[in-house]
Amino acid sequence: ADPDLDVVTFLATRRHSGVVALVDAATGRRTTFAELWRAVAGAATALSAPPFSLRKGHVALILSPNSVHFPVAALAAMSLGAVVTTANPLNTAAEIAKQVADACPVLAFTTRDLLPKLPRSAQADLKIILLEPAHDHRLPTTTDPRIIATIDEISATTPNPSRRRDRVTQDDQATLLYSSGTTGPSKGVVATHRSLIAMVQIVMTRFRLDDSAGATETFLCTVPMFHVYGLVAFATGLLGCGATVVVLSKFELPEMLRCITAYGVTYLPLVPPILVAMVAHPKPLPLGQLRKVLSGGAPLSKELIEGFRDKYPRVEILQGYGLTESTAIGASTDSAEESRRYGTAGLLSPNTEAKIVDPDSGEALPVNRTGELWIRGPYVMKGYFKNAEATQSTVTPDGWLKTGDLCYIDEDGYLFVVDRLKELIKYKGYQVPPAELEALLLTHPDVTDVAVIPFPDREVGQFPMAYVVRKKGSNLSAAEVMEFVAKQVAPYKKVRKVAFVTDIPKNASGKILRKDLIKLATSKL
Ligand code: ATP
Repeated sequence: ADPDLDVVTFLATRRHSGVVALVDAATGRRTTFAELWRAVAGAATALSAPPFSLRKGHVALILSPNSVHFPVAALAAMSLGAVVTTANPLNTAAEIAKQVADACPVLAFTTRDLLPKLPRSAQADLKIILLEPAHDHRLPTTTDPRIIATIDEISATTPNPSRRRDRVTQDDQATLLYSSGTTGPSKGVVATHRSLIAMVQIVMTRFRLDDSAGATETFLCTVPMFHVYGLVAFATGLLGCGATVVVLSKFELPEMLRCITAYGVTYLPLVPPILVAMVAHPKPLPLGQLRKVLSGGAPLSKELIEGFRDKYPRVEILQGYGLTESTAIGASTDSAEESRRYGTAGLLSPNTEAKIVDPDSGEALPVNRTGELWIRGPYVMKGYFKNAEATQSTVTPDGWLKTGDLCYIDEDGYLFVVDRLKELIKYKGYQVPPAELEALLLTHPDVTDVAVIPFPDREVGQFPMAYVVRKKGSNLSAAEVMEFVAKQVAPYKKVRKVAFVTDIPKNASGKILRKDLIKLATSKL
């Protein structure tokens, strides 16, 4: 491998291409690869000069919903060797302030309406670049003194290749993404250019995406770009396949469908809740040229796969398993046949080693035995940012990443995710995986969605409680839910409390926000 090959060198191979790289779904505006290259190179030139003086190792924050400017900002910063950190626009000002205090960015790309969420500092205020056009009459004017420029202004700078940038190599840091914070405080995950390039290549190979000149793939990016899932999605399109990436700023089913047919979308990365909406629709939705849908971020139930196959037989449903710490995909299903091995998260990614380890003894377990999944590969994070202790307990000195997921691998090498270690319910001396009970409850004809949480109990420690969304018109009772489970599981796994809700709270990557439900359940104690 070329030690100087960074993610931006990847893009440079398409610098003369007239193929459309980005489409803004809101305006229909198209940007070719040649224009994208020029915008990235121009923005990098501007960022390297005062007042920004962005250098290798500096951190640049992007706080923005999905937009066609997001990749320009990210790639320009990375091309200088700066580290891109992102924040979820739905986070509160306090949460963002915490992240800013941890990452210490020198500048921020954001939008007008998110400005109030960026903390002010008594010493040195963040320099802000708006990820919006300068003269958008739909937007309010603002006089925030922190705003130095707009993305269009800096992208229009004449690229100055003689302005020597620091040498950027594959081993330099590219991103600092914060984990979703589902199971504990969110942590900053450092990935290198090598990890990102490795992941782009894995996605292309595993999902057989076309990267021939003249690109035949059109991606639709509706998964959030601030999360590793969306970041890898646009990076695979732009840097790997040379595909057209249509960017949707937020998910709305009708707008997503319009884009799929209007732009001839072929590849669509999604999270399970969106698939639920597509399957729940009374009639099959028109999907134009769509050939592949990727589901990732959270488990995909058998019912959902079957429902999707029945309704959309021409679209292949793929699945990816991974975590921020693995720069996305550690295992995946790559064809209809594989995902028919229901419940599997698929085969390991290329260049990946895996073992299943007994969480108590630390011993490696044989096939079909459940333990913690450890993986090793070129995409595993460098470590947690400024957190040597957490890094030490998560990555071994010889490069194994402890995923925190309880899994088993069968005799043919298929990975099955049983649950997350931290989410196991501890009933007396037993451990109950909530995901197993959720999968079971989803097979009930009157259940649309469900979440199982630990309910505290003085006598037994914790027992499983289910929050259930009933099918419209159903009058399924709590007793019936409990009986349905009791008939099919060992007694210690029984659901012992049920509540009905209209929806299950989930985060951007489709994960159940168990913390919120636990709070709700225990607030009445
Ligand atoms: P935190 O570590 O802060 O609690 P998080 O782990 O939720 O946050 P992510 O990196 O977004 O943050 O999530 C990774 C986790 O998502 C994996 O460890 C796994 O539990 C789950 N996951 C991802 N894809 C799948 C999948 N296909 N099937 C089952 N679980 C999945």
